Amino acid sequence: MIDIDTLAWDKQGGLLPAIVQDAATLRVLMLGYMNREALGVTLASGRVTFYSRSKGRLWTKGESSGHVLELVSIEADCDADTLLVQAHPHGPTCHLQRPSCFPAAPADGLAELDALIAQRERERPQGSYTTKLFEDGVRRIAQKVGEEGVETALAAVAQDEAALLGEAADLLYHLTVLLRARGLSLQDARQVLQARRG
Ligand code: AMP
Ligand code: ZN
Ligand code: ZN
Ligand code: ZN
Repeated sequence: MIDIDTLAWDKQGGLLPAIVQDAATLRVLMLGYMNREALGVTLASGRVTFYSRSKGRLWTKGESSGHVLELVSIEADCDADTLLVQAHPHGPTCHLQRPSCFPAAPADGLAELDALIAQRERERPQGSYTTKLFEDGVRRIAQKVGEEGVETALAAVAQDEAALLGEAADLLYHLTVLLRARGLSLQDARQVLQARRG
């Protein structure tokens, strides 16, 4: 994971900034500082522990709130003077009861669509078109993807920009539902694209 002795402890008075990310979503949760001892305790206990400059002591995040950060990995940056910690948060990380100490990153609309469709599949709310699609089954959803694909192609050829955008949106939505109906997600398809980039 990381070698304590290769880090640039002497550069900044024995403290390294440690950026904590949610290991599942990669959202930045908080920033703290670690000294050698805090990093050692973090690695040994599996709970993210900082050196608190205000408290003047080691501080295991969640020690009083219970909202611990369960360690997944720690990496150093290029010149070994900053730590990147991935963790599973148990409860809100910020003491203001927010998931992160930072505002939410600009929305990734397709990731939100992916998550919304997964939620619809689990909860099957009445009156939802997505619920109806899941109940109709994979063949019906696949047929819709085929139709929307053809409509997208026709709109592109017809040089109707508004229609093309509308059909492309329909296609992305139905494609996401189809992937979900097969136990997959848009995110999985994105990872295939990412891997092809080499
Ligand atoms: P906790 O570590 O969650 O038990 O919280 C103990 C105390 O640490 C809180 O009362 C805050 O003063 C401080 N604290 C908790 N979470 C954070 C955070 N994310 N950033 C800065 N200070 C925090
Ligand atoms: Zn650096
Ligand atoms: Zn906070
Ligand atoms: Zn359409």
